[in-house]
Amino acid sequence: MTPGKSAVVIGAGIGGLALAIRLQSAGVRTTLLERRDKPGGRAYVYHDQGFTFDAGPTVITDPGALEALFTGAGRQMADYVEMLPVSPFYRLCWEDGTSLDYGNDQDDLERRIHALEPADVDGYRRFLAYSRQVLDAGYIKLGAVPFLSFRDMLQAGPQLARLQAWRSVYSKVAQYIRHPKLRQAFSFHALLVGGNPFATSSIYSLIHALEREWGVWFPRGGTGALVQGMARLFEDLGGTLALNAEVATLQTQGDRLTGVTTRDGRQFQADCVASNADVVHTYKDLLAGHPRGQQHGRQLAGKRFSNSLFVIHFGLKRAQPQLRHHTVCFGPRYRELIQEIFNGDTLADDFSLYLHAPCATDPSLAPPGCSAHYVLAPVPHLGNADIDWQVQGPRYRDRILDYLERHYIPGLREDLVTCRIFTPEDFRDTLGAHLGSAFSLEPVLTQSAWFRPHNRDAQLSNLYLVGAGTHPGAGVPGVVASAKATAQLMLEDLQR
Ligand SMILES: Cc1cc2nc3c(=O)[nH]c(=O)nc-3n(C[C@H](O)[C@H](O)[C@H](O)COP(=O)(O)OP(=O)(O)OC[C@H]3O[C@@H](n4cnc5c(N)ncnc54)[C@H](O)[C@@H]3O)c2cc1C
Repeated sequence: MTPGKSAVVIGAGIGGLALAIRLQSAGVRTTLLERRDKPGGRAYVYHDQGFTFDAGPTVITDPGALEALFTGAGRQMADYVEMLPVSPFYRLCWEDGTSLDYGNDQDDLERRIHALEPADVDGYRRFLAYSRQVLDAGYIKLGAVPFLSFRDMLQAGPQLARLQAWRSVYSKVAQYIRHPKLRQAFSFHALLVGGNPFATSSIYSLIHALEREWGVWFPRGGTGALVQGMARLFEDLGGTLALNAEVATLQTQGDRLTGVTTRDGRQFQADCVASNADVVHTYKDLLAGHPRGQQHGRQLAGKRFSNSLFVIHFGLKRAQPQLRHHTVCFGPRYRELIQEIFNGDTLADDFSLYLHAPCATDPSLAPPGCSAHYVLAPVPHLGNADIDWQVQGPRYRDRILDYLERHYIPGLREDLVTCRIFTPEDFRDTLGAHLGSAFSLEPVLTQSAWFRPHNRDAQLSNLYLVGAGTHPGAGVPGVVASAKATAQLMLEDLQR
């Protein structure tokens, strides 16, 4: 325990909330400052005409990591949020009419793989075995270990070499699986954490094993209900959550922080400060007055950032029983489209989409007989493609809705009750995301583990990071693991 010690956490994204819970549970007086009117960050929620729209994460994996936040605080997660299993995990669809539902039933999955390519059944088994090894080494053993020194990296080196971490997710999948559609089916997961399957380290193929090991879940009431549950737990433990509290400056004295000042002039003193805000924003803006902020902010701004997303939230006056909860709609191109999303300077003519139909699991997210949805298209970030989203956004929305109406939701236009878009400019302006990136730094090997911004700053000894921009990276399991790594460091430092 650390009686009398205090901490400020900047940003109530899932990583910020998880860290604040861990600190408060350990007896550190914790204040969580969030600039928006609700907690959640990328997991924000919109309510409109009886529809509930989750803005961000919908595929919830490793529920045990979330549960640990509650049990660690002496509470039961079930008293705060109910987790519902999702089955199948995904429906994957291609334009030629092929579709593949997959979930946790090995025999069923193998039958479906066999129907596409008999030889790939054995290949899939070997891929799953590989994916499980990576899950054990990369997530269970190293996910919550803060990589503060290069020695940590050298220690992990042999393990990473054995798993061929320098290869891409796609190349590893292609080593085992032949059928082009199955190669897509087992490599697209990297996109869920902002990784290009053709460039990101094969370590990220662990996401498949993560789903198979512990399932895919969805909170009753939507991901927003999970956020609410986490915020309630934090407050029940005695933590202070302040909304509409945008931090403008980190106060420093030499190489230590003394607290933070909000845009409206409020000051919060603390023994230590952790930032869940965008990493470039943290150094470049919040630490603009300190040499470390200027120098490191410039350095971080020059790194490779993940793609952005174009998201349409829409409510329909009819239920859509033909849809499964999670549908991936593959377009006509895979490799070429992904290269254009990550490296191109324009918007491609075609797209691949993720379609969310949460009423398949929880009909309460829409008025009776209706359905709530979002559809997203990965798009280049603002540093690569100088697109005027004020102009292009409505056009792109119309093209995507037309496509959905043709292929997935007959009568969509006529049934539309409400519709809003969220563009890369919104990621930049609403969430402070550098270049409008949806997932922070791109998870390539040279920006992972020790090469990612560290959970504790190298110079300012009581400044910490948590969330997608630090180790291990984006995605709900990633940011929850980052909170574990950062909390360990903070608690050790506070006890000194
Ligand atoms: C559309 C979308 C779909 C996704 N789907 C999935 C999925 O299905 N499964 C999955 O696991 N992951 C998914 N992800 C990724 C996942 O949502 C994110 O990686 C994760 O939620 C990021 O959490 P974070 O802790 O980094 O904080 P963020 O969500 O980035 O929150 C940071 C918070 O800091 C606040 N803030 C910023 N600056 C300040 C300041 N100066 N003062 C005070 N507050 C500030 C922001 O307002 C924000 O609330 C998705 C992401 C998106 C965008």
